[in-house]
Amino acid sequence: MQNLTVLGSTGSIGGSTLDVVARHPDKFRIVALTAHRQLDLLFRQCIQFNPRYAVLLDEVAAVQLSKMLRDAASSTEVLCGVDALEQVCVLPEVDTVMAAIVGAAGLRPTLAAAKAGKKILLANKETLVMAGNVFMDAVRASGSALLPIDSEHNAIFQAMPRGYDGDMAANGIKRILLTASGGPFRNTPLAELQAVTPDQACAHPNWVMGRKISVDSASMMNKGLEVIEAHWLFNASADDIQVVIHPQSVIHSLVEYVDGSVIAQLGNPDMRTPIAYGLAYPERIDSGVGALDLFKVATLDFVAPDYERFPCLSLAYQALRAAGTAPAVLNAANEIAVAAFLDKRIPFLSIPRVIAAVLDALPVSTVCCLDDVLSADAAARHAAQLQIQQLSK
Ligand code: NAD
Ligand code: MG
Repeated sequence: MQNLTVLGSTGSIGGSTLDVVARHPDKFRIVALTAHRQLDLLFRQCIQFNPRYAVLLDEVAAVQLSKMLRDAASSTEVLCGVDALEQVCVLPEVDTVMAAIVGAAGLRPTLAAAKAGKKILLANKETLVMAGNVFMDAVRASGSALLPIDSEHNAIFQAMPRGYDGDMAANGIKRILLTASGGPFRNTPLAELQAVTPDQACAHPNWVMGRKISVDSASMMNKGLEVIEAHWLFNASADDIQVVIHPQSVIHSLVEYVDGSVIAQLGNPDMRTPIAYGLAYPERIDSGVGALDLFKVATLDFVAPDYERFPCLSLAYQALRAAGTAPAVLNAANEIAVAAFLDKRIPFLSIPRVIAAVLDALPVSTVCCLDDVLSADAAARHAAQLQIQQLSK
């Protein structure tokens, strides 16, 4: 029996995780579920999975949930606040932590899980983007098993030699080919991008996801964050990672070897596949995902990315090459800019403008510990807010 904490259980990845877990009651048990403030959904999840703990960030919602659970004769204990997120990651009875909080808020609990040596199913790519070296050092020091859940990184993990040790050359690996759908605006005329709405940006052609990552996919910042994520997971340099636009989202990424072999992982675009892979690794279990019908897919297309249309992708490569605090600054500026776009305070095309201005304004420094990351994150958020105020004047 594997005992799980699901961080961000009310989100898109959290829901898919619970869907897979529910198919295998003999294999997985839920110890803790966490959410920001989605009270009703978390209540229903508690009734279905009977966790020992439920965590809400919002205090008022936590009191309410506690009452609802008592009235339903549930024994789940409700905790509240950021510290409680860390607490449910390091419990001795927890084997595995699904890190599926969105954004920088996921960093501290995911890092706590790494320090405690838990098996980590990593969906929260922002952890690696912000604090790649701090997090990877913690994983190595504690001996945590780290399984990438992001579909592309899960595909790369599957296409790499078992037990890959971070040495691409010694393993005969030439390049990582990171696929991207190109998002909803792949073919939208540039002139029309200025006026696109949050709902248009969130209408992804192939994947159903949370709103922040959906906007990231539309700007291609998601792929930029994933380049940085791949750098840390596989010890690959910026030059070793090639983004390939593949609109069908059937090939989830590829690994090219020196002998000319290219190994890919294919499947329907459904996150339950990488989640089931991570949960059961090294075994395979049913995920609920239907068989891939190659005759229906029929055609697979590949196009080089257009860096002019998608400046966020170049900004991410730039931040990866600058190293140190630059990726944390990129991530923070992006979170602020995306939130402003979702609130209709800035137009879509201002997202890369805000990020570029913040990267230009803040000097890059080295990252030795978590505090270095958190102060760069705070400075970048502040600088991004100032940029947005100037833009809206
Ligand atoms: P989502 O918005 O659907 O869900 C986010 C979850 O985090 C919710 O449970 C929410 O309650 C919780 N949360 C939000 N803010 C919080 C805060 N400040 N403190 C604590 N909890 C908070 O997001 P998602 O699409 O499920 O994405 C989750 C993570 O997985 C992101 O890092 C995303 O990049 C990554 N990811 C998602 C997908 C996908 O298909 N959705 C694919 C690959 C990677
Ligand atoms: Mg992805």
